[in-house]
Amino acid sequence: MPPATYEPVESPDATTVFPYHDLTPPTTADVYKARRVVRRYLPETPLVRSEFLSAELDAEVYLKREDTLPTGAFKVRGGVTLGARLDDDFRERGLIAASTGNHGQSVAYAGREFGVPVTISVPENPNPGKVRSMERMGATVEEHGPNYDAAREHAERQAAEEGYRYVHSANEPDLLAGVGTAGLEVLDELPDVDRVFCPVGGGSGAAGYCLTLGAIADARVIGVQAEDADAVYRGWHEGHLEPGTESDTTAEGIASHVPFALPMKVMRERLDDLETVTDGEIWTAVAATFREENLTVEGATGAAIAATLRAGTELAGEVVVVPVTGRNVAATKLVRTLEEAP
Ligand SMILES: *Cc1c(COP(=O)(O)O)cnc(C)c1O
Repeated sequence: MPPATYEPVESPDATTVFPYHDLTPPTTADVYKARRVVRRYLPETPLVRSEFLSAELDAEVYLKREDTLPTGAFKVRGGVTLGARLDDDFRERGLIAASTGNHGQSVAYAGREFGVPVTISVPENPNPGKVRSMERMGATVEEHGPNYDAAREHAERQAAEEGYRYVHSANEPDLLAGVGTAGLEVLDELPDVDRVFCPVGGGSGAAGYCLTLGAIADARVIGVQAEDADAVYRGWHEGHLEPGTESDTTAEGIASHVPFALPMKVMRERLDDLETVTDGEIWTAVAATFREENLTVEGATGAAIAATLRAGTELAGEVVVVPVTGRNVAATKLVRTLEEAP
């Protein structure tokens, strides 16, 4: 039976939420349940000591290499978790999502894995490599609007009109539980972790670390946003869900100007601090990571590395984890960054 056409319901944040968007935050137990799913479809990712960051900070710094996952970013953990549990009603109609790339790749990957059609709405001038990757996995990619939020509104309208299952980038308990499995893998190897620095766009990744490293190991979970896209930073510190001003960070993985209710709920309970870094610091960190570790990371990951470097002597003697959330940086951007880096 095809799903009934549905109308957007009242949203707790500034994003449209459909009736099937359960906003109950996942628990740590839900992350363990998601791990059974994730294990079936994805490899565990390596946890590798960074000699560069460890020496800089006089600490034990480990990189959780989420960039080694298929799609090159952590989000696919959430995609397969949601895909495996998808209502039969939506298997034929298909999934739709808005994304600057990595969420879209995650949904495209899940669609291919579970035989469900996928449409992704991206803002104009998207990262071309991310678009090619989504198309290679069989997704239909539509460019719409000048920024992520315009692309998101387009996807929401399409979902309401066509009956697609709209996959929100963060107001989805299965996505949060799925990405949280990275934290469980860290704990298997490093139960004495003191602190994790996680980039925050919508906050699903950070919420996952809150439910695992925070809840189980009592590690300090530090979120990092771009100063030029700081809506979640403001919402978390000021206690609201108001959209921020237009985001214009060049780190597209964390370029949203609307806080999302579900990850915010988890972060309000468990996140220790939320900081911002400038785009200058972000790309300096991307260049340093390439130069010192020969590792290609996205601007979003650069934000977490920049915050780690800035913490400096405060981290001396600690066991610190930084997830390499993604490697899908546009080639032109990487070349420019390396040429211009101090
Ligand atoms: C999406 C993304 C982030 C931010 O994750 P959220 O769960 O939206 O906070 C960070 N890094 C990369 C590479 C991403 O794709």
